[in-house]
Amino acid sequence: MIIKQKGTYDIYGVDAKKRQYIKNVLDTLSDKYGYGFIETPVFEATELFHRSVGDESDIVKKETYDFKDRGDRNISLRPEGTAGVVRWFVENKLYGNLTDPVKVFYCEKMYRYERPQSGRQREFTQWGFECFGSDFVESDAEVISLAYNAYKLLGLENVKVKINSLGDDESRDNYRKALVDYLKPYKDELCDDCKRRLETNPLRVLDCKIDGDNDILKNVPKIIDYLNEESKNRFDKLLELLDLLEIDYEIDSNIVRGLDYYNYTVFEIVLNDSLALGAGGRYNNLVESLGGESTPAVGFAMGLDRVVEILDNENIEIPIEDSIDVYILGESENERNTASILTQTLRLNSFSCEMDMMNKTFKNQFKAVDRMNAKYLILLKDDDIKENVITIKDNKTREEEKISIVDLVDYLDTHI
Ligand code: AMP
Repeated sequence: MIIKQKGTYDIYGVDAKKRQYIKNVLDTLSDKYGYGFIETPVFEATELFHRSVGDESDIVKKETYDFKDRGDRNISLRPEGTAGVVRWFVENKLYGNLTDPVKVFYCEKMYRYERPQSGRQREFTQWGFECFGSDFVESDAEVISLAYNAYKLLGLENVKVKINSLGDDESRDNYRKALVDYLKPYKDELCDDCKRRLETNPLRVLDCKIDGDNDILKNVPKIIDYLNEESKNRFDKLLELLDLLEIDYEIDSNIVRGLDYYNYTVFEIVLNDSLALGAGGRYNNLVESLGGESTPAVGFAMGLDRVVEILDNENIEIPIEDSIDVYILGESENERNTASILTQTLRLNSFSCEMDMMNKTFKNQFKAVDRMNAKYLILLKDDDIKENVITIKDNKTREEEKISIVDLVDYLDTHI
């Protein structure tokens, strides 16, 4: 027997319905915020992720699914969504004089070769969105507002934004120097990766999964103390805006984000003060570094699988349909043929409708009516069919009526 790969899941039944509901909520909200749906390929040139996510990131160093295709090209399954969307933006030359921002959202499978554990899969779905073209804090606030309110709309009350600023290039350079000066004396106590990161990309040390809990990191200098005036003013303005929007936030200097491309705003959304739900930030240099004209951008991504799990854990009810509108019963060949016709007609008129597919007796079909929780049942009889009438019964009140077949759709329209 062939079984599924480690860290992957088959999703069906009630779980599939719950995900579909959540996706619909997120799709609708994204649309209201003016973000258009985008799909990009599951696989891209490996180089795209090296140049965007960063050579030194854990994602690229240890987690991508890399392979050579039959044309000897280096290919990777996407580990995150931003790189592909930016590649699309650059390839289609959407940069330049934008009069309005270009705003897109995606909801797609991502692949990371991680050690599978609760909340960490090898194949997972991320809902994310990107806004290109505005360097004003209104766009940071819009992205944070969309992410924050998405969770609220799904019923999670205790969500909070943990926010930090990495500042501009100058602020980041100053901070990098201060961080290296601080960490150098402790070099021997860091993990092997961090020893190397200290030379290549010291900010990454703050994001290390191994050294993350190390006491040394608890007292590192704070990036916020190294912001120059412009970066500081920008951060203050954003926080003011979040206050106006009544978004619950907290400044957290530990948030630096694992990906290379962020500057200025970085944020995470957490539940009950600690559980990470999703993360985002501003990335003004990425479009240019992937070959486009310099274009400011800001975005966010969250794990959909985790949200399904959390809504379950928090006992938040997801309104999924567990009933059907109509079940049509018939036994003779003529009754079954009529059932097939009426079932198709009702389905095409937006009613959910089922009939027997297993050649069951009336008695057993009645059991199916209850199993499927049908609101109405139609009991077909040859004599009725001859006269173009049917018996329809409300399965709750048990009241039944004989109506003309041609009136069926109208009848259900007024009763359901
Ligand atoms: P990241 O792209 O690493 O910033 O992750 C953004 C969000 O995606 C996280 O907050 C998680 O909700 C989700 N996520 C990241 N990696 C995984 C994974 N391996 N399995 C499930 N969800 C993930």
